[in-house]
Amino acid sequence: MVTVEERYEHLEKTIRGYNISADLAQIRSAYEYAREHHGEQMRRDGSPYITHPIHVAQIVAEMRLDSESILAALLHDCIEDTDSTYEDIAKRFGVTVADIVDGVTKLTRVKYSSMEEEQMENLRKMLFAMSRDIRVILIKIADRLHNMRTMEYQTPAKQKKKAFETMEIYAPIAHRLGLAKMKWELEDLSLKYLDPVAYDEISRKLEKAAQEHDQFMSRVQEDINDRLAELSIPHATVYGRVKHPYSIYRKMYLQEKTMEELYDLFAFRVLVDTVPDCYNVLGVVHDIYKPILGRFKDYIATPKPNMYQSLHTTCIGEEGIPFEVQIRTYDMHAINEYGVAAHWKYKQGIKKEGGEADYEWIRRLLENQEDADAEEFIHSLKVDMFADEVFVFTPRGDVINLPAGATPIDFAYSIHSAIGNTMVGAKVNGRMVGFDYQLHNGDVVEINTSKAAHGPSRDWMKIAKSSEARSKIRQWFKRERREENIAQGRASFESELKHLGLTVAQITAPDVLPSILKRVSFQTLDEMYAAIGYGGLTSQKAANRVRDELLHINRAAAMAKAAEEAAAKAALAAKAAQEAKQPNMPRKVKSEKGIVVEGLSNCLVKFSKCCAPVPGDEIVGFITRGYGVSVHRKDCPNAQPGHHVEANQGRWIKVSWSDDIRDSYATALEVVCKDRTGLLVDISTAMSTCKVNVNGLNVHTTSDGFAIFHLTISVTDSKQLEQVMRKIHQISNVMKVNRPAG
Ligand code: MN
Repeated sequence: MVTVEERYEHLEKTIRGYNISADLAQIRSAYEYAREHHGEQMRRDGSPYITHPIHVAQIVAEMRLDSESILAALLHDCIEDTDSTYEDIAKRFGVTVADIVDGVTKLTRVKYSSMEEEQMENLRKMLFAMSRDIRVILIKIADRLHNMRTMEYQTPAKQKKKAFETMEIYAPIAHRLGLAKMKWELEDLSLKYLDPVAYDEISRKLEKAAQEHDQFMSRVQEDINDRLAELSIPHATVYGRVKHPYSIYRKMYLQEKTMEELYDLFAFRVLVDTVPDCYNVLGVVHDIYKPILGRFKDYIATPKPNMYQSLHTTCIGEEGIPFEVQIRTYDMHAINEYGVAAHWKYKQGIKKEGGEADYEWIRRLLENQEDADAEEFIHSLKVDMFADEVFVFTPRGDVINLPAGATPIDFAYSIHSAIGNTMVGAKVNGRMVGFDYQLHNGDVVEINTSKAAHGPSRDWMKIAKSSEARSKIRQWFKRERREENIAQGRASFESELKHLGLTVAQITAPDVLPSILKRVSFQTLDEMYAAIGYGGLTSQKAANRVRDELLHINRAAAMAKAAEEAAAKAALAAKAAQEAKQPNMPRKVKSEKGIVVEGLSNCLVKFSKCCAPVPGDEIVGFITRGYGVSVHRKDCPNAQPGHHVEANQGRWIKVSWSDDIRDSYATALEVVCKDRTGLLVDISTAMSTCKVNVNGLNVHTTSDGFAIFHLTISVTDSKQLEQVMRKIHQISNVMKVNRPAG
């Protein structure tokens, strides 16, 4: 039986082992202070409570943390569990130590009642965000580790709950901080309670085969040692270990294998002085054993995001047993085992104020890495350290993640817009607060709602920090206050219009309103006013768009008028020519896009989408309002005389292909086939044989087994088009090849 005093002396010895300048008198007085304050308190195993803080300090000392960390570890439960106060600790042991103890206390007070998967990352971030000083979280992890080591005295329900928390929150944090040793111990201890059957099976099998394993490992160790001695690589240490139960468990689970089938149960480490020695050792190992291809990883050249550095390789030993070898320097090893803590040790003596500088080395270490994970790691540290987020609880215990400076309004809308819209009051940690109250990490927020609520006020949009809340408030105004919005929007729009020298009458004329509405993308003017009213569109933007559209309409009208006058002139000339019994020779004028429009020069020409004519087709033109002449195929249903609206009669005009046609014209084909595999390839082949470009392709299949291809292609003329249509028609299963029209 080890006495409390003996345990404490062991701690002192550990501290002396790495920190000769530690103030052991002060550390002892912290120990005595804690022992006194915890008084008669007992652990569940029947030992005095003070053994717990001593053990936590022991773990912290094994991480080689500074004296302040040791003091804080010894005192970590004083504020929470005894009549000691922050002020008292600050007076006796300094403000820094009191701050760390206070930080650990706050983390201890966080109660997790939700265990949903998506909550876990938020919880981890919350713990980070709450730990201003990295030592807070390091001590909290040490605290949890000791509690897990002594978990057997707890009730089964508590064991499961704590094990789950440890697996989901603390082990990942330990991993993120590069605390490999603590991470695997936390995982193994959690597994013991989360899946006792599997844990027992793995440990039993490991125990049973222990002798066999030991023999294998010492043989490999000897072989490597002998060769290293031959090559006189100085100060090399070689040792082997069997992988940890949780890492075996994970592999069995992920690879669906039994323990016997697992690849690498064994891991060897070779520690050397220098990086060149690492690569030398790698050469030696690969010389003795056959390496497995694709298993070599160089984490020295490319460290892992959590700063881990090592060479990894997997080899096959005698009897075909595979094993992993990790090769690294002693310095890397310290960082791999203790991560952030090791760096903390290096940093000792260089005191800087403020949080940011403390993390400078993390950024320096990581910024040259291209690894995406690394970036994520930097980001999550930034998020945590520069606090652009705040984490609060719902009364149910869910963590809600909001931007820093968020208020109860942001909280309410992040739960549901109905909560925000009916909010009449807010409570934080049980006390009523104003709507502009700034939330803090760990706050429990409760929203009071009422059916009689008036809804949000426009001021809320200024108070809310999250864009989510602001947009939901805007939505509410859009829906609930339509009349008000329309009136407000109209007033604002009309004054803007006046500013541009326009009147409302100018835009409401029946021949301009439709295209104006189209330009601003609203069905009616009221809708546009409403949008301006609730803030979805600014009145300047709306008025500018309307002005642009008006200018466009006026220009188009002027052009259409010119075209009509010209058409009338041409008709008159034709009539005069006929009366003079002269042959009706259409005067060829300058062509546009390979089209000559009778009697008109320089007019805009476009090819109608409905029938997409190509040179060689018989064509006819139609004078549109504002967009020049649209050219159709003569056989297009839209160009049939029967189809002509009387008022448009005078707009149909003769057009013809000129001699200077362009190289290619866009047109379309529709191919109807009985569906089969390979159709697409055959059609594509036909296209390329005929040197036709495909610009677009669209297939849909019908339920009765047909496939209909819509092809957009470019051809030189109707001859080439006919050729390609014939080619396609020859393909088996093709039923019909059409040129769509109408
Ligand atoms: Mn504790």
